[in-house]
Amino acid sequence: MPFEPDAEVADPAAPGDAAGYVVDGSSTAETQRADEMHDQTDQARVDATRELLEAEQAQLRRQLQELGAENQGMEFDDNFADSGQVAAEQGEARTLASRLREQLSDVERALTKLDEGTYGLCEVCGERISDARLEAMPTARYCIHHAG
Ligand SMILES: [Zn+2]
Repeated sequence: MPFEPDAEVADPAAPGDAAGYVVDGSSTAETQRADEMHDQTDQARVDATRELLEAEQAQLRRQLQELGAENQGMEFDDNFADSGQVAAEQGEARTLASRLREQLSDVERALTKLDEGTYGLCEVCGERISDARLEAMPTARYCIHHAG
């Protein structure tokens, strides 16, 4: 067996420490406060990013909805259905809609990664994506080496 529990790991003082934590509330509170201070910058950044992504998500959904409503109107209008110009416009609308849907799924993916705590990590190598890159492209999934 590679692992043998030794006396130091199974320190009989450990249960005593744990009990001390429960009784002595102040030391627990202090530990928590220190952790919060430590995480604050990251947390603030995550919050700001989430806000940004959610705003973009809402905007994309609205754009898609408007586009869908317009498109539906065109499709229902038989008189114009065979007009070349309208057909071209419908094609453009479809192209735009698929681009919007792509952006929306990128945004939703980034939000999921925020929830999972993997936001800002390259999906290939797991390295942190640079702040400058994330600022320019908040939905970036890859580091500079694995982009494109
Ligand atoms: Zn990478």
